[in-house]
Amino acid sequence: MLSNKELKDLVEKNKEELLKLCSDLIKIPSVNPPGDVEEIVEYICNYLKEHNVSYEVLRPTPGTPDIVARYGNPNGKKLILNGHCDVVPIGDRNRWAFDPFSGEIKDGKILGRGTSDMKCGLAGLIFVMCLLAKNNIELDGEIILTVVPDEETFGDWGTKWLTESGTVTGDACIIGEPTGYFNCEIGQKGNASFKLIAEGTPAHGSLSPFVGENAIVKLLKVLSKVDSIRDIVPRYSDEVAEVMQESREMAKKLIAGNGAWHVVNHCTVNIGTIKGGTKVNMVADHAEAEIDVRTPIGVTVEMVEEQIVKILREADVSNVRYEMLYNAEANSTDRKADIVEAVAQNVLDVWGEELNRTYQWASSDARYFRYLGIPTLQYGPADLEGIHAYNETVGVQDVINAAKVYVGAITDYLKK
Ligand SMILES: [Zn+2]
Repeated sequence: MLSNKELKDLVEKNKEELLKLCSDLIKIPSVNPPGDVEEIVEYICNYLKEHNVSYEVLRPTPGTPDIVARYGNPNGKKLILNGHCDVVPIGDRNRWAFDPFSGEIKDGKILGRGTSDMKCGLAGLIFVMCLLAKNNIELDGEIILTVVPDEETFGDWGTKWLTESGTVTGDACIIGEPTGYFNCEIGQKGNASFKLIAEGTPAHGSLSPFVGENAIVKLLKVLSKVDSIRDIVPRYSDEVAEVMQESREMAKKLIAGNGAWHVVNHCTVNIGTIKGGTKVNMVADHAEAEIDVRTPIGVTVEMVEEQIVKILREADVSNVRYEMLYNAEANSTDRKADIVEAVAQNVLDVWGEELNRTYQWASSDARYFRYLGIPTLQYGPADLEGIHAYNETVGVQDVINAAKVYVGAITDYLKK
């Protein structure tokens, strides 16, 4: 068995292969929507095959191939490696300074859509797994690589299906999502979005407000109070509070909006759509609005619902009801979980920096693993500015170092 240092040297020695893999994946435009990932999946399968890594492709529905590859000792601990191979659309091509699908490497950067989110993180995981296989490195446990097609559109047939169907389970999970070189994500917000529906009594507009009951007026009365959802006080342990504090500090640096770091440990409330009424001279008999609510760790969907009920009671209007829309609980992994410690140790080794453990305000597939109680962290190379925007790039050294962190963390974690 090679030592941790020798394994990292092996990554260094083979870095050109890693960079070519990154470039090749960028060149295949697996844009979602529409979400056609057949070509990139075929490419990854061929790469695994060349390195004698056994895999299967599962298709829960047509057009949603999931790759599940395994290497190591199935009787030991199981470490899941996860990444999505889809990318968001490029938007306006004219606003890119370079071809988003060239995969060109220039001035220490890899260029293109998906470099940060997350083809280079994914390439790192695939490359490391194949490197271990190619060199016949014996592991005490098993690596299970899952490549999913649809993270950018909620992951229903990718990670959600793989976990909920029991196809994939494990003792811990690393996701190569972009976090930057000495940050990792160990928790994220949930979602308690809902719809308000107001019914009124129609009448001729000339008689309002004496005759009829205006649904728009009733809806506005309730909407004027929904902001109070932001006042819900989260409940969490001192340990979570510590990570929360670090996350607020990071958000301060990353979010330009004045005071926007509050999003980390408060609910956010966004009235996203509103519609109602039929005609200007009719008293509106129907109105509705959709409200996007993101819940921090320590606030459950149930707590938000209780607040909605309270708002409706206080607004004192008849025939206004709510329906919950897309809901997911906030989720987190213990800051001292073995897998987090393994990554922290290797980040220190590779970068000479303490790993910063933070909670995110956005969400990802990590939640599906955490709902099963699998300690999960996200760690991957990133230039955060270009993600879901224009001119996406990633640093070459960041990609190589991430792969070194992966190989060290994987082998450290799987030791008996
Ligand atoms: Zn992503």
